[in-house]
Amino acid sequence: MRKERGLLIVLSGPSGVGKGTVRKELFSKAGTNYEYSISMTTRAPREGEVDGVDYFFKSRNEFEALIEEGGLLEHAEFVGNYYGTPLAYVNETLDAGRDVFLEIEVQGAAQIREKAPEALFIFLAPPSISELQNRLIGRGTETEEIIKMRIDTARDELEMMSLYDYVVENDEIQNACDKINAIIVAEHCRRERIEKTYLSMLRGE
Ligand code: 5GP
Repeated sequence: MRKERGLLIVLSGPSGVGKGTVRKELFSKAGTNYEYSISMTTRAPREGEVDGVDYFFKSRNEFEALIEEGGLLEHAEFVGNYYGTPLAYVNETLDAGRDVFLEIEVQGAAQIREKAPEALFIFLAPPSISELQNRLIGRGTETEEIIKMRIDTARDELEMMSLYDYVVENDEIQNACDKINAIIVAEHCRRERIEKTYLSMLRGE
């Protein structure tokens, strides 16, 4: 029977929501069932970051050459630097039947939605979504201008959400990780995925 292709898991969300922290927590546990795709970037390494572990650190020229060659699944410019997902690793890992986990910003996620709509898209939302309204207007302590800025930000974030399959509120790291793992398990049980495997089995593939 043909081996089922791995699942491409995309974790994304607004800047500052804690994607990196949640991702590190997910991968700090033994027995994680998915592989982390190490991104490429032109930003300088931060203290303690290791080339080939945290990122593949590249020059702008090297990065642009890779874009030209079609070597990236997606890429985006974020605060003056390039970030991108190496295509070969993703394809090889998925073909081997293993899941791949990407932690990327929203422009990159939008590109993947176009190229690989069958991927699983999880939006990490800012904490206190449930209290959004209170935070925005309930306190009575903010100026009208600040309230308007907050509402605009919330509206932008809600619009971004519409590209995603699931929304996980990052209220507490462990809570968010548990939900992400539960979503991945559920996604593997999705009828469309299972059915494909059964149908190919019935065809003797
Ligand atoms: P940082 O510089 O803080 O490590 O990352 C900045 C932003 O780039 C974060 O939102 C992170 O999720 C995002 N990022 C990291 N790797 C990639 C990637 O391969 N592609 C895209 N589009 N964004 C990435």
